[in-house]
Amino acid sequence: VIVARTRQELARARRDLGERTLGLVPTMGALHEGHLSLVDIARAEATAVAVSIFVNPLQFGPSEDFARYPRDEQRDLALLEARGTDLAFIPTVDEMYPRQPVITVTPGKMGDRLCGAFRPGHFEGVLTVVAKLFGLFRPDVAVFGQKDLQQLVLIRRMVQDLELGPTVRGAPIVREPDGLAMSSRNAYLSPEERRQAVGLHGALQRGHEVYAGGEKSAATVVRAMRDALAAFALLQPQYVEMVNPDTLERVERAEGGNVLALAVFCGRTRLIDNSVLP
Ligand code: AMP
Repeated sequence: VIVARTRQELARARRDLGERTLGLVPTMGALHEGHLSLVDIARAEATAVAVSIFVNPLQFGPSEDFARYPRDEQRDLALLEARGTDLAFIPTVDEMYPRQPVITVTPGKMGDRLCGAFRPGHFEGVLTVVAKLFGLFRPDVAVFGQKDLQQLVLIRRMVQDLELGPTVRGAPIVREPDGLAMSSRNAYLSPEERRQAVGLHGALQRGHEVYAGGEKSAATVVRAMRDALAAFALLQPQYVEMVNPDTLERVERAEGGNVLALAVFCGRTRLIDNSVLP
């Protein structure tokens, strides 16, 4: 894997790819099998694969975990090498933001729902850095996980509305054997928190069950999910919703294609998960 740390090094590496098509996987590092599944998809869709590793300060709130977010560059590079990544871009904050950006990408109302309601400015930070990465890499394809559903929906919409170019691919959520969605933040969990964190997936499964039983009211499905979460003393729900997959608006009728989405504090760690109804 070629490592580029500056925009000059990136530009050179990009040129050296010549006619090869480029698949980009933006990440914040502390890589796990979820990230690596995105690399595999990028490889299937393009002839060269690039991964960016950048903990983006713009998308963290003042009381969030920017400073203590897990970072392990050597391990990440070994994993990327083993997975056949061609190019890794690992800029510093100053390299990425030589100046505080004045022009940013704002998501509008779709950025105020779900996670956006609790993380003001978060998706503006995400869209701005992704737009910069698209400018720096000029990728043909960019791959994002459905784990961060609202992010994926907003990026798709940004690419359409601003004609940014790359084809956006969504990737299925990769889970631990007990069902917990893989996340770099799972590293924050104490052993007891880790045991109870399975409750997020349990609540989604409960939602699926109630829906499969014929329930037509979204509110009733959501209530059953909240009841399932209540069995776990360390889990404090922030939101539990059934939403339309394109608009992210809350729905009243439970229907196939709608998404069950939740954010839950497990101790001090905020975890999210979601699942599409069949
Ligand atoms: P992050 O490093 O958390 O910003 O994530 C980088 C990319 O990996 C995003 O597109 C995420 O949606 C995706 N991702 C993170 N966790 C998972 C997972 N468990 N399964 C699939 N994709 C994931």
